[in-house]
Amino acid sequence: TNQISQIQVSSATETTEEGKKDELSPAETSLLQKIIRKGLVENKNDLEIQRKDPTSPLHSVKTFEALNLRPNLLKGVYDMGFNAPSKIQETALPTLLAEPPQNLIAQSQSGTGKTAAFVLAMLSRVDASKKHPQVLCLSPTYELAIQTGEVAAKMARFCPEIELRFAVRGENLTEGTKLSEHVIIGTPGKVLDWGIKFRMFDLSKINVFVLDEADVMIDTQGHQDQCLKIHKSLRPNCQMMLFSATYEQKVMDFAEIIIKNPLIIRLKREEESLDNIKQYYVKCSNEKQKYNAVTNIYGTLTVGQAIIFCQTRKSAAWLAEKMSKDGHAVALLSGELSVEQRIAVLDRYRSGKEKVLITTNVLSRGIDVEQVTIVVNFDLPVNVHGDADCETYLHRIGRTGRFGKHGIAINLVDSNQSQRVCEDIERHFNKKIMLLNAEDSEEIE
Ligand code: ADP
Repeated sequence: TNQISQIQVSSATETTEEGKKDELSPAETSLLQKIIRKGLVENKNDLEIQRKDPTSPLHSVKTFEALNLRPNLLKGVYDMGFNAPSKIQETALPTLLAEPPQNLIAQSQSGTGKTAAFVLAMLSRVDASKKHPQVLCLSPTYELAIQTGEVAAKMARFCPEIELRFAVRGENLTEGTKLSEHVIIGTPGKVLDWGIKFRMFDLSKINVFVLDEADVMIDTQGHQDQCLKIHKSLRPNCQMMLFSATYEQKVMDFAEIIIKNPLIIRLKREEESLDNIKQYYVKCSNEKQKYNAVTNIYGTLTVGQAIIFCQTRKSAAWLAEKMSKDGHAVALLSGELSVEQRIAVLDRYRSGKEKVLITTNVLSRGIDVEQVTIVVNFDLPVNVHGDADCETYLHRIGRTGRFGKHGIAINLVDSNQSQRVCEDIERHFNKKIMLLNAEDSEEIE
């Protein structure tokens, strides 16, 4: 029932003209994913669960009704188009809503329903008759806090009695203000100011403490200390929860300082594979022939949607310009665009306004636009030594094992070196890459 059409943008690097790598920051990446995402990410892996007493039964739910939510909150959940809990929500929600409250650490890739889970827990713990902050959610950046707040506002649409307040830059209160809102969503610095420096609310009256995007948080200078300071002022039996999209040990180390006796839920990222992908290569003798090859198969590309990968920003820009001049509709996405511009490009592409997207490695990981049928490697992915970068190849071409999802990959080879790279990739994955005559695109099945 969920239309899954999303693009994930990793904090991948792309090689600039000068050969330097530049990166999207983890916070930028995370924001982009949130904005681009239109539905849940499917994941067939099993949940990994750790808890203090593994013998006690673990409650899990298959419906939102089973959670005994306030009717207007349930209405809000359904109004968002959620029919059933996601995999992570099935296990997290009963724990988050249990009496007595339990602590939770959840790690799963973005798009699996963590935000919706903790927002629901936050809202359902509010006692609206008490006019003071009871729920505190920390996000690493202004933009991410706003995203979470928007989810909360949507979910609480039918609960006008619940009041939310952002504690982020630009929100300024006169000294002596006492906050009356139930839920505070903000960044660590502002929350520290409001809660500790100016005593605008009482941290010891917080019942639910959420640390979102903990991986991004601990990568941000100063945030870790600020979080710990805020954490120290909370009462010991405050319910604590922490969420992270990545699985690094340093996140777990931090999580375990903050969250006492937690239930730990982890959903490993689903592996990408080349199953169901038909791989071809086209022999060209130079850049010009590569260009001709692309234009020859353009008709085939636009039957569905295609992504063309180039190694450098310069070659991506060159290709996009040349194709446009020759009358082909293409979009260009590369690292020099602002976040807003990237979103605009991806939105147009996702909605089908453009059928061909030209990009660099900025977009290499887990491209998951349902309608992408062909991936073209205008340049094969190589590392700094010029050797095959098989991991990037897999990210560009591979799909997570979604039932019945087929795809085509076309690699343009224009030198002995790129021929060798292509063979190395073939050997690495032990999957045949077939020769294709680009003059005759009928060959592509
Ligand atoms: P995460 O925080 O793990 O990145 P989100 O909570 O933002 O994931 O959810 C990812 C996307 O899936 C969002 O667009 C959200 O609206 C949607 N979503 C979340 N939970 C459900 C659900 N139970 N059913 C359908 N869609 C959901």
